[in-house]
Amino acid sequence: MSDCIFCKIIAGQIPCKKVYEDDDILAFHDINPAAPVHFLIIPKKHIPTLADATVEDTAVLGKMMVMAGQLAKQEGCADGFRTIINNGRVGCQEVYHVHMHVLGGDEPLGPLLTRKH
Ligand code: 5GP
Ligand code: ZN
Repeated sequence: MSDCIFCKIIAGQIPCKKVYEDDDILAFHDINPAAPVHFLIIPKKHIPTLADATVEDTAVLGKMMVMAGQLAKQEGCADGFRTIINNGRVGCQEVYHVHMHVLGGDEPLGPLLTRKH
């Protein structure tokens, strides 16, 4: 956890472009945006992947979902957006602190995945 880049962002040790913060979650713009709107919503609790989440995390994970819609609108996604949570090696997760990508813009984002297999 001490090496976790997102815990350091929560602690204010690494700067971010904040979208929203409360006692449970933080939302900030992705440093390498993959769409015109691309921000991340993270729990303040260090949960490495969704596979590590427990029933105690239900409320904060639900709040992330609800805030995704509200913040997407606030950030200019008037006509839809996409949420992605990558998990583990197969999910190609890079940062092992649960984060929901919220992606959008004016134009459709295209297919969810390009199959490699
Ligand atoms: P993952 O592949 O784990 O689902 O996504 C990790 C995301 O975190 C990537 O989109 C990457 O651009 C973003 N990211 C990594 N380090 C930083 C950082 O220091 N600041 C911000 N704002 N985003 C980061
Ligand atoms: Zn963390």
